[in-house]
Amino acid sequence: MDFDVAVIGASSAGLFAAVRLAQNGLRVGVFEKQKELNPARRTYIITPHLDKVFGGLPEELILHRIHMMSVEALGASVDVPLPNPDLVLERRQLVHHLVDKAEYAGAEIHFGLRFVGFEVVGGETRILLNSLNGNKINICAKAVIGADGAFSKVADAAKIKRPVTVPLMQAEVSLPSDWNPAVTKVWFDVAETRFFYWLIPESDERAVVGLIADEKADARQILDRFIHKHEFEVLAYQAGQAAMHQPGLRPWGKVGDLPVMLVGDAAGQVKVTTVGGTVTGFWAAQAAANALMNGGAYPRDLRPLKRELDLHWIIRLLLERLDNPGYAFLIESINQNVVRFLGQRNRDEMAGAFWKLIFLQPRFIGLGLRLLLGK
Ligand SMILES: Cc1cc2nc3c(=O)[nH]c(=O)nc-3n(C[C@H](O)[C@H](O)[C@H](O)COP(=O)(O)OP(=O)(O)OC[C@H]3O[C@@H](n4cnc5c(N)ncnc54)[C@H](O)[C@@H]3O)c2cc1C
Repeated sequence: MDFDVAVIGASSAGLFAAVRLAQNGLRVGVFEKQKELNPARRTYIITPHLDKVFGGLPEELILHRIHMMSVEALGASVDVPLPNPDLVLERRQLVHHLVDKAEYAGAEIHFGLRFVGFEVVGGETRILLNSLNGNKINICAKAVIGADGAFSKVADAAKIKRPVTVPLMQAEVSLPSDWNPAVTKVWFDVAETRFFYWLIPESDERAVVGLIADEKADARQILDRFIHKHEFEVLAYQAGQAAMHQPGLRPWGKVGDLPVMLVGDAAGQVKVTTVGGTVTGFWAAQAAANALMNGGAYPRDLRPLKRELDLHWIIRLLLERLDNPGYAFLIESINQNVVRFLGQRNRDEMAGAFWKLIFLQPRFIGLGLRLLLGK
């Protein structure tokens, strides 16, 4: 089997790269270790920036729209209306849609083939795959896109540093009858999690309630305590490890003469404030496809995304220094100008404008300095 591009991993980032490349006439092979197309159910909240990178998301993929984000800590709370609503999607449906789209564009998708490494023979780099029944298969391509998730084997084989990961757990629950289904809510409580809890309605009847933890073993226990306190009725659980962006990650390399580009969780292209990686994974997949189609440079095409991800990394660094009263102070400082700003600039479009917040609320200068100096 010979391809222009071999994509490892048939989930959102890899499939999106395959769609773009195949639409432009490249021979694309996608290799997925799972024996069939059966991704786990996962409810996503996604910014409207998705439309800019994806270009025309079919209406049937949008489960629900969120028009207000409510934030709470120690009894302090603020509501941020979202004039461009956030979208709620479900991963299985998204991946099925992308598989159809990639195949329609001409990509070949192979299930039950696990990437195991590279082999350089006589100046040529081969891509090594194992089938489910243990057969070893070698393929050749002019480039590889590693989209094999947070524990990327492609990264390991190409000696590219992998991101750290955090456990994410959410419970599907019945939406309480007094809850406005257009409102998503975030609670900060650093005694339980250095990140936050959330409730995201996915319809007028159902929602997911979740948290990001530090240890996988603790996630379920902490989440169940929160669920018990709020008397949510659990229907099912969703869980996984999410990658975390760090400014030092360089998600590209070469094995022999074969260029290797990582996209999505494999590359740590995840906003560490919210641990959202779907839009940013699409964004990187588009950058990798652009670089391959136009003979450009992936690191250069990644720069706008990296700026955005680095900003989220800095915000997280500062947030980690807040205690619960600090979060309450932050929330109480969010005036109407800041609310308008946050409503207009979504979480994928912060870089380049974030500094404006200090003019909208001068209190942030003092708070930022105190956090930077650790006081
Ligand atoms: C519970 C939960 C909730 C989340 N909620 C949100 C949210 O609301 N919004 C948001 O933006 N993000 C969310 N995320 C993060 C989001 O799921 C990820 O950022 C996104 O799925 C990354 O996509 P990906 O294509 O890079 O990798 P993945 O979805 O991890 O896919 C990797 C693919 O590679 C395959 N693979 C792995 N190893 C190999 C191998 N050796 N050979 C071949 N194939 C291989 C895997 O089987 C898989 O299909 C959530 C994550 C979790 C766990």
